[in-house]
Amino acid sequence: MFIGHYAVGFAAKRFAPGVSLGTFFMAAIWLDLVWPVLLLLGIEQLKIVPGITAVSPFDFAYYPFSHSLTAGIIWSACLGLAYFICRRSPLSALVIGITVLSHWFLDAIVHIPDLPLTFTGEERIGLGLWNSALGTILLEGGIFVIGAGVYLRSTCPLDKIGRYGLLSLMLLLVMIYAGQFFGAVPPNESVVAFTGLSQWLFVLFAFWVDRHRQASAS
Ligand SMILES: [Zn+2]
Repeated sequence: MFIGHYAVGFAAKRFAPGVSLGTFFMAAIWLDLVWPVLLLLGIEQLKIVPGITAVSPFDFAYYPFSHSLTAGIIWSACLGLAYFICRRSPLSALVIGITVLSHWFLDAIVHIPDLPLTFTGEERIGLGLWNSALGTILLEGGIFVIGAGVYLRSTCPLDKIGRYGLLSLMLLLVMIYAGQFFGAVPPNESVVAFTGLSQWLFVLFAFWVDRHRQASAS
């Protein structure tokens, strides 16, 4: 899943307006930010298998430390706790933790059964929506519209960056998402990993845009 995770980041702002959208983006895609690092270190494994699903050409052969439910819970607690230690806001820390954990459950809808429950167990979860491109677009697109809509209603622009920067960010996410359906299969795992790491740019973009918006009065 791609823009569905960002949608959760957008929506989370409504429940903790004091937290930057950049922080929420980081939380929502945290498991996908950890994963490329572990891939490059050779700790987790990916195989590129064109056609394995209608949407994604990836066989997530081994990724328990980034994408097991256990790991999701631990990462969620770590990020929530880190925020609490820095900012002393229990509610914001809780929303951040939930945002991190939401990633696993959204992934579980689209992935074929490849998401482990634990670090070592054999059981793997996945409802396999990626077998249907249309189903994936409808679900993920729908979630994105709702999440982006919530953010637009909960905040208002302070200046042009807040208005047009945000629109650019949303448009960029949608364009990159659409490109996944038409783009070429990546040549190797390293390209996949570095593409994954490039998502930090969206986090930085969101930090920047969010500084130019404020909570809506209502
Ligand atoms: Zn993921």
